[in-house]
Amino acid sequence: MSEPSLHAAAAKDDAAAIARLLAAGAEIDSRDDTGATALLVATHANRVAAAKALIEAGGDVNAKDRIEDSPYLYAGARGHLEILKMTLRHGADLKSTNRYRGTALIPVSERGHVETVRTLIEAGVDVDHVNNLHWTALLEAIILGDGGERHQRIVDLLVKAGADVNLADGDGVTPLQHARNRGLRQIEATLVAAGAKTTMTDDDRFLGEAIELARANIARGGRPFGAVLARDGEVLATAVNEIHATNDPTSHAELNAIRAASRKLGSPDLKGSAVYASGHPCPMCMAAMRLSGVEKVSYAYSNDDGAPFGLSTAAIYEDLARPFAEQSMTIRHVPVRTQGKADLYAEWTSARSKQASP
Ligand SMILES: [Zn+2]
Repeated sequence: MSEPSLHAAAAKDDAAAIARLLAAGAEIDSRDDTGATALLVATHANRVAAAKALIEAGGDVNAKDRIEDSPYLYAGARGHLEILKMTLRHGADLKSTNRYRGTALIPVSERGHVETVRTLIEAGVDVDHVNNLHWTALLEAIILGDGGERHQRIVDLLVKAGADVNLADGDGVTPLQHARNRGLRQIEATLVAAGAKTTMTDDDRFLGEAIELARANIARGGRPFGAVLARDGEVLATAVNEIHATNDPTSHAELNAIRAASRKLGSPDLKGSAVYASGHPCPMCMAAMRLSGVEKVSYAYSNDDGAPFGLSTAAIYEDLARPFAEQSMTIRHVPVRTQGKADLYAEWTSARSKQASP
C-alpha cells in the first residue's frame, strides 16, 4: 500500500503516517490547490493529533491559504481550542488578520466560544482591534451573537480585559445602542457598569421623535410616517404624511418637512441639514432632499420592514434605476419648439440679466 499524501494523513488525523512522510522527506509546509498546508487541513477538521505532529515537527502556524486563513487564525476563529493553544506556544502571530482584516478574537466572539475568547485575551490579542467592516470583537459579540449566556460571558471577558465600550461601528452606533436595539438587557447592564455613555445621539433622539410623530398621525387617521429636519443639532421643522387630510399624493412627511423648513428660513437652500424619517424615504422625497441640499438622511423602518404592510417603495426604486425605455411609465423625449418665438431657455437667461441690472 502506498503512503497517503501529507494532506491526506492530516485529514485522517494519522500522526504515525505524518511522522513517516516527514522522515521520508515530505515538505512540511507544502500547499494543496487551495493554498492550504497539511497543518491547516488538520486545523480545518480539528484533527488534534495530526496538528500536534505537524506543529512539533516545525509546521508554520501562520501560513495562510488563498482566503487568508492560517492554522492560528482558523483555530482561533472556530474555537478549536487545543490546536489554538498549540499554535500560541509555537509562534502564532497575534497581530495577523483574516480576509476581513480582523483578528481571531472578532469571529470567535460572535461564535460564542467562551474559553477560546479567554485564551486569546490572555495571549495578548488586541481587544479593540477594528476590522474592515468597522467592527470590534465587542460589537461582533453583541450584534451577531445570540444574546444568551455564552455571549454575556464573552462581553464580560472583553469588558474586563479593557475593551473600549464606547467604540462605535462605522455608522456611529455604539455597543450600548446595539445591545438596546436587540433588547439584550444583561449585556446592556454590563456595558453601562463599564462606563458606556448613555446619552442618546442625534440619530436616536430625532428618529425617536419622527416615530412618535408618525404614531400621532395614525391616531388622526393618517399614514404612519413622520419626519424631522434638523441642522447643527437644531430642529428646523417636523412634519407628517398628510395625504389623508389633503388628498395631495405628494404630501409625504419628508416633503412637508422640506416645505416647512424652507418657508421658515425664507430660502430654498437647506444645505447642511439632515432629515430623520420614521420610514425609508420614497424616491420622490429622496430626490427632493437632494435638490434642497439636505446632506444626511436617516430612517428607522426599512423597506423590508414596510413590505408586509404594503409600505415599501423598493419596486419604484428598482423601476427608476432602469433606462427610460425599460421603465413601466411611458417616458418620451419630443423636441417640440414654438414657431417664431425666442428659445425658452435663452429667454430666461436674458430676462434674468435684465432683472439683475438696473
Ligand atoms: Zn416620500
